[in-house]
Amino acid sequence: MEFAQYHDRLQRTAAEKNSEFADNGQLLHLINGGQLTPNSIDLLCDLADRIRLLSREKATAAALQTLLSHRRAMLYFTQPSTRTFLSFMAACQILGLTCNEVRDPKTSSEVKRESRMDAIRMFSSYFDVIIMRSPLSSFAEACSYLMNDLRREERRWVPIINAGSGSDEHPTQALLDIYTLKRSFRFQDREGSGQRFADLKTRHPDLTKGFAHKTYTFCGDIGRGRTVRSLATALSQYENTTMHFVAPDVAALRLDSQLRDQLAKRNVSVFEHETLDSDFQGRSVLSQTDCLYMTRIQREHNSADDENRLEEMDLSPFQLTPERASKLKEYTPILHPFPRDSQVQEIPEAIDLDPRAMYFRQARNGMWARAALLAHIFGVAEELEEIETHSHGRKTI
Ligand code: ASP
Repeated sequence: MEFAQYHDRLQRTAAEKNSEFADNGQLLHLINGGQLTPNSIDLLCDLADRIRLLSREKATAAALQTLLSHRRAMLYFTQPSTRTFLSFMAACQILGLTCNEVRDPKTSSEVKRESRMDAIRMFSSYFDVIIMRSPLSSFAEACSYLMNDLRREERRWVPIINAGSGSDEHPTQALLDIYTLKRSFRFQDREGSGQRFADLKTRHPDLTKGFAHKTYTFCGDIGRGRTVRSLATALSQYENTTMHFVAPDVAALRLDSQLRDQLAKRNVSVFEHETLDSDFQGRSVLSQTDCLYMTRIQREHNSADDENRLEEMDLSPFQLTPERASKLKEYTPILHPFPRDSQVQEIPEAIDLDPRAMYFRQARNGMWARAALLAHIFGVAEELEEIETHSHGRKTI
């Protein structure tokens, strides 16, 4: 097995593991969606809002760039990525961090049979944070154990940020999804007034602000969608949530038992469907949904069997056609981690002009959310406050 020396630690429950990734509420590493607790979500989203606001003016944007100008980040991305890679790079630039990258392991000493762990420890000598994407599911987690052991021995260690690991977790995507939802679920109009919420309440009397008391529908590649796993886990910590999972009837693509059990433990009401047209308790699932999270079928993970089954399968039940979108509530945000599949068209371009379509906004929010994460990990919240005090004071956005 890969990372045999960490086998026992990798097998533990999420709660046992996550206590190792933080110290007194301060994240040491970000490895999985379960670490995004309601407290850390509030803290990171607040930081993201503040960084976003400070970035608007030249003087305060320049001040932000001094916050981490003495730090260096390694972007170790050995699996294809454009969005996450560029988004992290932009986040680093916002805070003044210098970035370097390794994207092809063939250009590293792995070809000389260097172990992956040696490579990571070597990077930690030159850089102050390692942001990594890997096709291997537990790699980022194993790296954080390596760093924690070094920390315990009072040797040099650096934070590990998981930017997507195999088909298991993508916690920074969950963070930006949550940041986007948090902003959507304020139900404010552009001017920030409460009028929109008051109007919506007249038509949806049970509507509340925030993540609790909501119905989330996830559609597409549920089983292999690491963004789904990270986001559903984070959202499961809020009260009274219902989750519908809509996936093709192919074992690898359906909700796996591990995530199902985890959600059940959190008292989430979980339901599975094989089409977006399903009904639930006599009404269409779409019409009851408060957030629709669409995903692409991730063909790169297909076995030969999956490939054959999917080849023959009609994927139209997993397409958000304008007709289906018209069944959604007037305020329901439509999210997608992107890329979308231009052939399957799980979200056709016709949906892009719908004001509920959030996917381009998600990408921009990702930059602020990742900058917030870096600011938190490096503990520069106080310096951020100083920049605010010396500018126009805090505004709300
Ligand atoms: N960009 C997301 C990921 O890296 C979703 C996808 O690739 O479909 O997991």
